[in-house]
Amino acid sequence: MKRSLLEILACPKCKGDLDLEVLQEENEEIISGKLICKNCKAVYPIEDGIPNFIPEL
Ligand SMILES: [Zn+2]
Repeated sequence: MKRSLLEILACPKCKGDLDLEVLQEENEEIISGKLICKNCKAVYPIEDGIPNFIPEL
């Protein structure tokens, strides 16, 4: 995913802002990392460049 996508993404649970934690980045694309909700602290993994918004139960 592009770093700029962070500005339009929101937490699907609470609509809060997300923090980005990058593990691997290539050509301005985040390949792997995590999106962390600043509000409810839910964590969404980014794998193969795709953010996964299915909450872990
Ligand atoms: Zn949230």
